[in-house]
Amino acid sequence: MSEPVYKRVVLKLSGEALSGQAGYGIDAGMITTVAEQVQDVVELGVEVAVVVGGGNIWRGISGSAKGIDRATADYMGMLATVMNALALQDGLEKIGVPTRVQTSINMQQVAEPYIRRRAIRHLEKGRVVIFAGGTGNPYFSTDTTAALRAAEIEAEVILMAKNKVDGVYSADPFKDANAEKYERLTFLEVLNKGLGVMDSTASSLCMDNNIPLIVFSITEQGNIKRAVLGEKIGTVVQGSV
Ligand code: UDP
Repeated sequence: MSEPVYKRVVLKLSGEALSGQAGYGIDAGMITTVAEQVQDVVELGVEVAVVVGGGNIWRGISGSAKGIDRATADYMGMLATVMNALALQDGLEKIGVPTRVQTSINMQQVAEPYIRRRAIRHLEKGRVVIFAGGTGNPYFSTDTTAALRAAEIEAEVILMAKNKVDGVYSADPFKDANAEKYERLTFLEVLNKGLGVMDSTASSLCMDNNIPLIVFSITEQGNIKRAVLGEKIGTVVQGSV
C-alpha cells in the first residue's frame, strides 16, 4: 500500500498529544515527532488540516470546577489551543512544511481569521492549515471543532490521534484489565454505549454528516501515514459497520 486512500483529511490532535509523557505543557520533542509525521503525509500529496486541542494547558471544565465562570474558563481553553497551534506551526515550518494558522477568534497579529474558502485554497496549494480557537464558542470541544471543520472543508475522514490509547476500548484500559479494543464501531454505538472516544455533540455531527473517524495512537511513529494509506490501525468509527 503506497497510494493514499484519502485526498483531504482532518487530523485531530489533543493537547495531550503535544505534551508527551508529562501530560501537560508543550514538549519540543513531541512537536518535532508530530510535525515529521504530518510532513510524511503531506509528501504523499494528501491535503492536511489540523485541529488542535488545548487540554495540555487548560480545560474549561476544570477551570469552572475551581470557581471560574464556565464560559470564561472555556474562552481560556480556546486561547490555549492557539498556543499549541503556534508551537505546531513552528515545528512544521522548521522542517520546511508551509503552514497557516487560522483562528475562530480574531487575533490578527498572531494568525489569520478562519475563512472557509481561504482554508480550502491553502490546502489546495499544499499548505497545512491549523485550525485554532476551537469553534469559537464556549460549551463546545475541539472534537466538535474537528467534526465541524471536516464537514465544512469536505474532508473525507477525521484522524483522531491519541496520546495514551491506540483505539476505542469497551472500558478504560488503564483501569479495567478486561477492557477490549474495538476494531469497528458505529457512531450510534459510541453514543449508546457512552464510549469516551469523543463527546456526544461531536459524534452526532460526524454521524449526521457521514464523516468516518479513525482513532489511533500518535506515539507510534508513522501511524498517521499508515492511516492515510488505508492500513488497519486503531478503531474505525463510521455511520454503519
Ligand atoms: N473549548 C471551547 N469551545 C470549543 C473548543 C474548545 O470552549 O469550541 C475550550 C474548552 O474549555 C476545552 C478547551 O477549550 O476544555 C480545550 O479544548 P479540548 O478540551 O477539546 O482539548 P483536548 O482535549 O483536545 O486537548
